[in-house]
Amino acid sequence: MNQNDESAESRMTAAVAEGDSPRPQVTRRPFRNTGVTLPLLGFGLMRLPETEGKIDRAAARKMVDRAMAAGCNYFDTAYMYHNGESESFVAEALGKYPRDSYFLTSKMPTVMLKEEADLERIFAEQLQRTRAGYFDFYLMHWLNAAHWEVAQRLKLYEFMKRKQAEGKIRWIGFSYHGEPEVLEEIARAYPWDIAQIQLNYLDWELCRSGEQYEVLTRLGIPVLVMEPLKGGTLVRLTPEAVKILEQAGPEAGVASWGLRYVASLPNVQVVLSGMSEMTQVEENLATFSPFRPLDASERDTIGRALAAYRRAGAVPCTACRYCSPCPAGVDIPRNLGLHNQVKGGLSLFHAKLVYDAMPEKQRASACVACGACQKKCPQKIAIPALMKEIAGEFQ
Ligand code: SF4
Ligand code: SF4
Repeated sequence: MNQNDESAESRMTAAVAEGDSPRPQVTRRPFRNTGVTLPLLGFGLMRLPETEGKIDRAAARKMVDRAMAAGCNYFDTAYMYHNGESESFVAEALGKYPRDSYFLTSKMPTVMLKEEADLERIFAEQLQRTRAGYFDFYLMHWLNAAHWEVAQRLKLYEFMKRKQAEGKIRWIGFSYHGEPEVLEEIARAYPWDIAQIQLNYLDWELCRSGEQYEVLTRLGIPVLVMEPLKGGTLVRLTPEAVKILEQAGPEAGVASWGLRYVASLPNVQVVLSGMSEMTQVEENLATFSPFRPLDASERDTIGRALAAYRRAGAVPCTACRYCSPCPAGVDIPRNLGLHNQVKGGLSLFHAKLVYDAMPEKQRASACVACGACQKKCPQKIAIPALMKEIAGEFQ
């Protein structure tokens, strides 16, 4: 287990950069009073590049190496990411680095738990897949009111404390999608080290993320940010909103506005970005090396872009796929994405070509309004109603 994280981090950076010209390093923030610093930018391993439905390991390894060389050494995986492949990719991509040169987070999938024996089985599988020996951070994955009930019934916190005592977990936390009231109940239940919430400028009010941030800050729990760009929504926005951001910062990418918005909050510990290609890695590293908080006029710019986006009436789908699979076979995020492209200016003619090319059962018109998806959507999108609207739009 790490005895001296600061020196380990320095060794890692020096080892990777040896022979190269010095590279800018990602800004870091102290983690509580542990003596450890964490990079403000973390690498989310849930949207890695893929070929034929599998992780493109060669491309993804290069991205991880680039991140490590820039001091972006916090990696976030989970049992369910890439259907389990994300955790085994960790072994391949990070196995060559000293274990104390990076921070690894994984999560217990509360949605899959049936009985107490599942905890030991899944945790052992995660250690075996990642070959990491231990997790720096281990989180209860995807808590909400229902999953919190499961976690308590199966004594998940007590299980995690046992693993911590065995040296298999360093710090304990949870990830959360839900209302701030339940978050407060969970946050008060145990002395958590960290919590992961969805935070971005679109969700600040829409999903009451601002209230969630304030609950955690008030209770002294550092925040890991997921979906800072709302699954890419804040990069695409609408043409008018993108133009506002591009005119205000011609050199900065549109993504940098969303990342800087959340990283400017003082209780944010790490901003996770699910990077899918090397250009995103480079852009994100540039935003955080070094990080510069937003000033008042930049905040105003985001406000104007947000107002333009809302005027266009796009649906806030992050393409997380928590709603899937649909029992009728509808590809929900794809239909919503197409709908948003139309709102953003794509002609109905061109959108209909794409829609008609989809297999019939994947189209919005195949929805039987069973409502199963809606309960699972963290964004609380009225999916059945929208499927009806989209089907009509493309009829
Ligand atoms: S409501 Fe429609 S889209 Fe949602 S799960 Fe049921 S059939 Fe699928
Ligand atoms: S509809 Fe909701 S659950 Fe489904 S992909 Fe979009 S945001 Fe995720």
